[in-house]
Amino acid sequence: MSIKPDVINEDDITEIYQVVMVGECGVGKSAVTMQFLKGFFLEDYEPTVDDRYQKIVNIEGTNVGLEIVDTAGQEAYSAIRDKYLREGDGFVLMYSVADRPSYEKIPELVKQIQKVRDSDRVPCVLVGNKSDLDPDDRISEEEGQELASSFKIPFYEVSAKGAQNVQESYISLIKLIRVQAGSIPR
Ligand code: GDP
Ligand code: MG
Repeated sequence: MSIKPDVINEDDITEIYQVVMVGECGVGKSAVTMQFLKGFFLEDYEPTVDDRYQKIVNIEGTNVGLEIVDTAGQEAYSAIRDKYLREGDGFVLMYSVADRPSYEKIPELVKQIQKVRDSDRVPCVLVGNKSDLDPDDRISEEEGQELASSFKIPFYEVSAKGAQNVQESYISLIKLIRVQAGSIPR
């Protein structure tokens, strides 16, 4: 994949997708988003608003426009949250490997998405962030993989801080979205 936001003409974008970041507060949704967009680790990001960012990526030879919605989390169970869940083309389901409750929350998120969409085929990727941390009771990679397998979705352990696997996780989600959209064959 290459990222050339300045040299790609908007007319060359043939596909636009919305990716929504979901997961408990503090798991690193904003940090991972920033790492993906800008290539650096933002230590402290104000978790007050829902932000939208645009990025153009070249994937499999196609210029794809992305809108990334970085949710703040306060909208749990609200109409606003349902709106994100209805509109997103794909979801980054994020927990922190250092926060077990955030891991245990994931099945509920999947259920919410499936309910709002009335489908169990919504493109999602499971991401365990903060892989640079190793506390007692760390969520193991096996536990992450097991959870992802139960939903038949891809899984990545990532670190926004260490810039590990961040691009890879978005790319795999975009590929799933493109398959779902019929842009590439199954
Ligand atoms: P959000 O509420 O999900 O958007 O989480 P933030 O992006 O605001 O991150 C919450 C806290 O976790 C901040 O203090 C970040 O600096 C920290 N953080 C985020 N990603 C990582 C990571 O990969 N490793 C470590 N060690 N800390 C991280
Ligand atoms: Mg945030």
